[in-house]
Amino acid sequence: MARYTGPACRICRREGDALFLKGARCYTDKCAIKKRPRIPGQHGPTKMQKKHTGYEVQLRAKQKVRKIYGLLERQFRKYYQMAVQQAGNSGHNLLHILEKRLDNVIFRLGFGMSRNQSRMWVTHGHFQVNGTNVDIPSYSLRPGDVVTVRENSPLKKTFKDVMEKTASRGKSSWLEVDRENLKGRFVNLPPREELDQKIQESLIIEFYSR
Ligand code: SF4
Repeated sequence: MARYTGPACRICRREGDALFLKGARCYTDKCAIKKRPRIPGQHGPTKMQKKHTGYEVQLRAKQKVRKIYGLLERQFRKYYQMAVQQAGNSGHNLLHILEKRLDNVIFRLGFGMSRNQSRMWVTHGHFQVNGTNVDIPSYSLRPGDVVTVRENSPLKKTFKDVMEKTASRGKSSWLEVDRENLKGRFVNLPPREELDQKIQESLIIEFYSR
């Protein structure tokens, strides 16, 4: 399955919620979900009025999270399988697996305006984990891991500028950021109450375990 390359705002409108896929624009009044809060396409308004089946509700809950983290179906399903094999609440396990991804941590630390941008910078080799170059966006971090911008990265100035812009986005308690030295630490797994409350992980588990 090919990666979606169409307008990001269309995804938000389809899911009926701001998924913050575009960076700075998402925090302004230009956000499409504020200007056109309806499902895109000719039949969008009809779809909104339709009564939703249980399957549709589960499907939308799954699609929303998959799109927030920018994953393809196969990889997302793989994460679900890993989550149910682990001990504890499968929904929480799934969110932890997603949050531990290197591209997500880079975004949360404020090095990227969006997860897409963070993923691009990871693949371009600008980051190190515990002093080793890592260019795999799905790399899974462990508590205590330290993420740094590579010493000879030509984008150091850009990262400083981006970090200034993202400083107002709010802090994640499970991460430590050192803006001066372009460094961050994944301290521990995020508590569920600090993650997006609109995510319904139990519906995702129900969707896959049908
Ligand atoms: Fe979604 Fe951002 Fe577009 Fe708003 S501006 S609709 S949050 S991608």
